[in-house]
Amino acid sequence: MYQSKPPQLAVFLFLYLSLTVLFFTGYSVRGREPRLPNIHRIYFDHNATTPVDAEVLAAMLPYFSAEFGNASSIHSFGQGTRGAVERARIAVAALIGAQASEIAFTSGGTESDNLAIFGIAGGESSSRRHIITTQIEHSAALHSCEALAKRDIDVTFVPVNRAGVVDPAEVRRALRPETVLITIMHANNEIGTLQPLEEIGRIAKEADVWFHADAVQSVGKVPLDVNALGVDLLSLSAHKIYGPKGVGALYVRSGTPMEPLMFGGSHERDRRPGTENVPGIVGLGRAAELAREKLSEDAARISRLRDIFERGVLAAVSGARVNGADAARVPNTSNIMFPEISSESLLIALDMKGLACSSGSACSSGAVNPSHVLTAIGLAAAEARSSLRFSLGRHTTEADVDLVIAMIPQEVARLRAISPENKKPVLAK
Ligand code: PLP
Repeated sequence: MYQSKPPQLAVFLFLYLSLTVLFFTGYSVRGREPRLPNIHRIYFDHNATTPVDAEVLAAMLPYFSAEFGNASSIHSFGQGTRGAVERARIAVAALIGAQASEIAFTSGGTESDNLAIFGIAGGESSSRRHIITTQIEHSAALHSCEALAKRDIDVTFVPVNRAGVVDPAEVRRALRPETVLITIMHANNEIGTLQPLEEIGRIAKEADVWFHADAVQSVGKVPLDVNALGVDLLSLSAHKIYGPKGVGALYVRSGTPMEPLMFGGSHERDRRPGTENVPGIVGLGRAAELAREKLSEDAARISRLRDIFERGVLAAVSGARVNGADAARVPNTSNIMFPEISSESLLIALDMKGLACSSGSACSSGAVNPSHVLTAIGLAAAEARSSLRFSLGRHTTEADVDLVIAMIPQEVARLRAISPENKKPVLAK
């Protein structure tokens, strides 16, 4: 008969296994702080997020405690924080060539995209029920469009060419009398390609269609002016420009009939209710000022490093190819395909050597799906699953790039050597 083990043993085994897992996944039990191995860590994942700049943090800190007033309060506590919010609004507007009154603060890029897309096209009573977007949008815009498609709004997902760029003529062809919105990203988050927004802006204006751009990955990296681009709405996010997470902005050209998504107070000129996240907004404002000051110097330095990085890797890894290399790109992004390698294995191997980068694949129900961006530019699923994104930033040094150029070929060679596909068949004697 089955003899149940004493409960103490079960408890001991459970604790032992939990502690082992915690130890090997790098977390201490007490502080839950990462126990980083003693290696030099290099961060090539700035498109995922950036560290908060020390000056940004210093600007934010007073607004957590000493300057705590509600920016809607009439008394002096409220006046102080209102002033800080409005100064941040001016700084964000200056970064993109807008008027301060056209900036609405949000909780980040995802909310800005949702607000723009649903706020223009989501109205139940709208008679214009068609929107145009591309196949390579970030999920914040893509899934918003897909949600609208379930509400009987037609969506055209315009394809991109092999370089990762949408053809404005295709956008023009997709127009219909009932088109209400064109929503197209400025820089792609995975491959960095820049879309021809100026031309699309002219097409939208001629057709009298509202035009939204997701500029989360281009703001602060390339010069950007909402009037030159001809956009009516534009999304940006603080944590991609050395500001805090959970705060962003939506530019809404004056006169654009955007409905709010939430209801409450009349904050942000009735565009986005809710007590303002003052420290976050102040952080975004300071990050915008710094981005404006440093943009040309950062762009020149980072694109030079990115080019050195790509040349070094391509020269040392047979068959490696840069995805989106034939298009204009933001200066910091490099997406490289390494034939015969699983991107997940390489990502983990590089992380163990101290390099943080990213794969664009999404994991759903246990299966790793190839990136929709890479398949849209014509990569086979296996090629997409062999690609990694490296995104450099303001603090990346040439010494880091040299280390990475040496590290990647070694890890690729090691993984290729142990890949089952590369094992020679054992011949029967
Ligand atoms: N749009 C793009 C192009 C992005 O890259 C991201 C974030 O990676 C977002 C939107 C979402 O921004 P947030 O993380 O601020 O919600």
